[in-house]
Amino acid sequence: MIDHFNKQQWLNYVTDQVSDTDRLEYEEHLYTCEQCLLTYTQCVEEMTSTLPVIENEEDISKQVMNSIQPKETKQKLIHKPLFQYVVAASITMVLMTSGVFQQVAMQQDQFEHETQDKPPVSQELTNKISDFLNDLPTNLRGGQKDE
Ligand SMILES: [Zn+2]
Repeated sequence: MIDHFNKQQWLNYVTDQVSDTDRLEYEEHLYTCEQCLLTYTQCVEEMTSTLPVIENEEDISKQVMNSIQPKETKQKLIHKPLFQYVVAASITMVLMTSGVFQQVAMQQDQFEHETQDKPPVSQELTNKISDFLNDLPTNLRGGQKDE
């Protein structure tokens, strides 16, 4: 039977408070266990929600200065590919649950229907231009006759 890591252990992993050998075990397990991936995602979300909000440029430059210091755990985490993957995955999950994807899909459907009924915009434009060019000599001749 598989031993799962508990939430506190994942929090330790997220905040970089595990040894390098333990870290490998955590990561190996994470790739194979959906349940722990979920717990880990929750930990990451809790972590990211406690990150300071960037309010102005002064704060950004302070954060850049902080990132230069080697013992900045939050910055170190961001460089981990797995961390980035999980953040991307959780953003996708949030978007999916909030219905953004559904809305985009529906709009795409609508767009396809509209374009099916009408000729392509480029063709319509070409037709209008050629109509205009065909009418042009007639209009000019008409003007000359009236003079
Ligand atoms: Zn597990």
